[in-house]
Amino acid sequence: MTYRVALESGESFPAGDGSVLSAALDAGVTLPSDCRQGACGTCRIKLLEGRVTYAEPPMALAPEDEAGGFALACQARAASDLLIRSQSLALPPTTRRSATVKSVSRLAADVFHLQLDLGEPADYAPGQYMKLHLADGTTRNFSMAARPGGALEFHVRRIPGGRFTDGQLARLREGERLDIEMPHGAFIFRRQDYRPVIMAVTGTGLAPIRSMLESLLDDPDAPPITLYRGARTEADLYLHDELESWRARIPDFRYIPVLSRNGRRRYVQDAICADFADLSEHAVYLCGSPQMTAAARSAFRSHGADMSYVYAEGFSFQLQEETT
Ligand SMILES: Cc1cc2nc3c(=O)[nH]c(=O)nc-3n(C[C@H](O)[C@H](O)[C@H](O)COP(=O)(O)OP(=O)(O)OC[C@H]3O[C@@H](n4cnc5c(N)ncnc54)[C@H](O)[C@@H]3O)c2cc1C
Repeated sequence: MTYRVALESGESFPAGDGSVLSAALDAGVTLPSDCRQGACGTCRIKLLEGRVTYAEPPMALAPEDEAGGFALACQARAASDLLIRSQSLALPPTTRRSATVKSVSRLAADVFHLQLDLGEPADYAPGQYMKLHLADGTTRNFSMAARPGGALEFHVRRIPGGRFTDGQLARLREGERLDIEMPHGAFIFRRQDYRPVIMAVTGTGLAPIRSMLESLLDDPDAPPITLYRGARTEADLYLHDELESWRARIPDFRYIPVLSRNGRRRYVQDAICADFADLSEHAVYLCGSPQMTAAARSAFRSHGADMSYVYAEGFSFQLQEETT
């Protein structure tokens, strides 16, 4: 059965058995999307008319959101004609190219700093990521960790047994060529929200947030920002001094480390809920494991967050993802 999906903007496309997102992409209609596994929530759409179904309930769509008329385009299948609302974002075009390794060093015991050179300034929006194509035909995603315009920087966590992060990364040598495709993703900073911002990260989830923050340095129009950074112990707080120093370079910036293995077990979402009884006026950016982003969404919803202003990137893994 084929249905018609119309956007409020007037564009429309046919949708058959696949997801609403894949139908849109097949028709050349760009909807924001990231993980395409129902884990990040970037492809959230508002159903103004019509019904959708899911093979499995998507992780990033709470029952309350579904009841409120939201759907995740990457998992939803049309069960009738649809009228939808989606955020349109002007993002740089994606290209596949060769990059040169500039350096690989350590930021922490299990975090590497990878720098690549494209031979020209890279064009991406802070918060976006690259796909690294491996020789076996699979890809790995890593978020750019610096503002656009300079060398490409990444914070890569070593996953024990991971084909790239454990098997290849530490052996890369300066001058080696890597096959990358970028930029991808819609987890970007939305200035137009005009809201105070709360950012919550764990582990290398700092990478895209650092790119956003670096692009706001010395900007008198930056909104008030509070960054909560979850880590197990102080040793995991790589780039701590740099973030501390940015208090002087972003007009109203607060940086709050939250340790989960020192004494009281505490998570970023708990710390934020303890500090903010009401999140209804904030924009929230979440980046880390899909478990953290799902737990934080749910906690923030119950603290009044407007879910239209909660943006998340869940660092899922892509073991079997094939190149196209
Ligand atoms: C949009 C996006 C952006 C990302 N950006 C970053 C980033 O900036 N920095 C970063 O460090 N990571 C990031 N990740 C996660 C990163 O892509 C994976 O950790 C990476 O693909 C692991 O590759 P690998 O070849 O080492 O492991 P694989 O060989 O693919 O996996 C080996 C095994 O390790 C486990 N595994 C793999 N990845 C993870 C993970 N992330 N968490 C838990 N278990 C895992 C699985 O059990 C898997 O079977 C991002 C993910 C997404 C979706």
